[in-house]
Amino acid sequence: MSTHLSDRIQKMSTSATLAMAAKARELRNEGKDIIGLSLGEPDFNIPDFIKEAAKKAIDDNYSSYTPVDGYADLKKAICNKFKRDNDLDYSPNQVVVSTGAKQSLFNVAMVVLNPGDEVILPAPYWVSYSDIVKLTEAVPVEVKTSIDTDFKMTPEQLEAVITPKTRMLWFSSPCNPSGSVYSKAELEGLAEVLKKHPNIYVVSDEIYEHINFVGGHVSIAGIDGMYDRTVTVNGVSKAFAMTGWRIGYMGAPEWIAKGCTKLQGQVTSGANAIAQRSVITALEAPVSKIQYMIDEFHQRRDLVLQLLGKIEGFKVNVPEGAFYVFPDVSSFFGKTLNGNLINNASDFALYLLEHANVATVTGEAFGNPNCIRISYAASEKELREAIARIASVV
Ligand code: PMP
Ligand code: GLU
Repeated sequence: MSTHLSDRIQKMSTSATLAMAAKARELRNEGKDIIGLSLGEPDFNIPDFIKEAAKKAIDDNYSSYTPVDGYADLKKAICNKFKRDNDLDYSPNQVVVSTGAKQSLFNVAMVVLNPGDEVILPAPYWVSYSDIVKLTEAVPVEVKTSIDTDFKMTPEQLEAVITPKTRMLWFSSPCNPSGSVYSKAELEGLAEVLKKHPNIYVVSDEIYEHINFVGGHVSIAGIDGMYDRTVTVNGVSKAFAMTGWRIGYMGAPEWIAKGCTKLQGQVTSGANAIAQRSVITALEAPVSKIQYMIDEFHQRRDLVLQLLGKIEGFKVNVPEGAFYVFPDVSSFFGKTLNGNLINNASDFALYLLEHANVATVTGEAFGNPNCIRISYAASEKELREAIARIASVV
């Protein structure tokens, strides 16, 4: 069948995380017993107090279009959250509520970037950054990090890739896929470099903020000199297990927030009304209400590290947050496993899917071809079974 897809969409890759999840679903429908460790999606139910708020919003007839940038009282709750958790002073005109943090990221890219601008992405980076940047015809510039430095970019590495065309730096902390958490001192080191380059803006993706096992989440916007040039992106998908409700938000310099609102007004008209109402309740609740999920992720991380540590050939660091491990599996490259030649991380992930019935994601999608990503947002039983299966085929 002939198609007339635009060059833009033809050049774009399919989201590897979503593609692997779809593949796992397909195999399950065919009757295969697949354990899905590919998707970064909490396996908890939405807490009841949030569900109740959504039910009330339906009964209270929150059924009309909302303000494009979000309900005023939700934006106020977001400002209070930024103050309470991050000591950041954002006013409501600096806040935009969107259909997931993914849309917040897309909005910023569309509003700030021009064709040819360079965007620094410390690799591994979250899978969608690179394609979102490319959609704007800006150029992703990857900075390779390795497991030996906990996958963190150093100030020297940052400095070395800055050119007159550099417009932005995008990163997540806690990081998807590596789980690394930048400390205050590390962020200060990066900020020192950025101070010399006032035209560079930062996207700080803090969606895993609460899933942090070392404590002390630090927002780069709070570091001297960074507030006016940082967009702080966050959302409720991870901390509140609300992935399908699609609410994310940003705190940003006002001109960026205004640009995002203008864009959103032509694209979605604003995020879902019922979900927005429920997020007010979620953000006003003390973090202690979701601590049980954070504790559970912490225990699972320890379990996964212990079990993977026993498999020869898996090199694993200790992720400090999020719910992923990102083992280096390059020791398998060039080897033949059960008749399958493993040349790279994609071959390895496919091998695990076909031979162990375990879905993971190749590190190539995150800019690191030596690793695979394993999400431990799954039950202890599934994790034990999945890792036993992996061990048996390698
Ligand atoms: N940033 C990172 C680092 C993520 O892992 C995700 C996961 N989907 C997102 C952004 C997007 O989240 P949302 O569900 O709010 O669109
Ligand atoms: N952020 C999750 C992941 O990395 C969800 C999938 C997606 O939005 O791409 O798996």
